[in-house]
Amino acid sequence: MIDIHTHILPGLDDGAQTWEDALDMARAAVAEGIDTVIATPHHANGAYSNEAEAIRRRAEQFRERLAEEGIPLRVECGQEIRVHDDLLDAWQRGELLSLAGSDFVLLEMPTGRIPSGMADLIHELKIMGKRPIIAHPERNSEVLRYPERLSQLVEVGAYAQVTTHSLLGLFGKKAEESAWSLCRAGLIHIVSSDAHHVERRGFRLQEAYELISSKLGEKFKENFRQNAASVLYNRPLNESVVFEKSVNIWGKIAGFLRKS
Ligand code: FE
Repeated sequence: MIDIHTHILPGLDDGAQTWEDALDMARAAVAEGIDTVIATPHHANGAYSNEAEAIRRRAEQFRERLAEEGIPLRVECGQEIRVHDDLLDAWQRGELLSLAGSDFVLLEMPTGRIPSGMADLIHELKIMGKRPIIAHPERNSEVLRYPERLSQLVEVGAYAQVTTHSLLGLFGKKAEESAWSLCRAGLIHIVSSDAHHVERRGFRLQEAYELISSKLGEKFKENFRQNAASVLYNRPLNESVVFEKSVNIWGKIAGFLRKS
């Protein structure tokens, strides 16, 4: 399996703190059947600033440690980039990283809202040949209230990644319901762990895929698995599968989430 969003590189953000933490996470990933992770440290989120070069250096050190320990995990570089005004200029300055050198870029919105310029930013990134992926929209409170607004961003060309822990109910009922509703509506393209710590916030990717398969069907699971590989190899993503077609799906989803 391939996990495109992880905080496995040590000492850069609120993920792994020490080399031992990072190696423990790597062992856990391999034990679960994950062979490749993209390391995506937080960047520009107000708490952490991790520019491209620092991430590349730490990943190189990590690969050496993995080789010494005999842990068969492939580690690629990425970045979880908080949406900010300077983002496009930061690209030009070479401070940002796509996922594993592909055209895919992992964007994080603030948790409380969708930034006002989000659709324009996605549009601009598309013009630059990038393929923006919105990290865990199911945890964004504006998406919770108005899921149609995520749909608008997907229409402009964004993709969306749901987090395993949301699907498994570990971030509470609201995130769980939102995660499944967005999957059913065809607004989710990729599943990833956003793993931070081996016990407190591990991978659980296999578990999430199994649940997707049992709740939504094998086709959903396969779609998501293929898309994770497509990010890694810079191929176009599969069209999303829509589980439940309804003329008023947004009203249904929003109504349900507001109640819960
Ligand atoms: Fe993250």
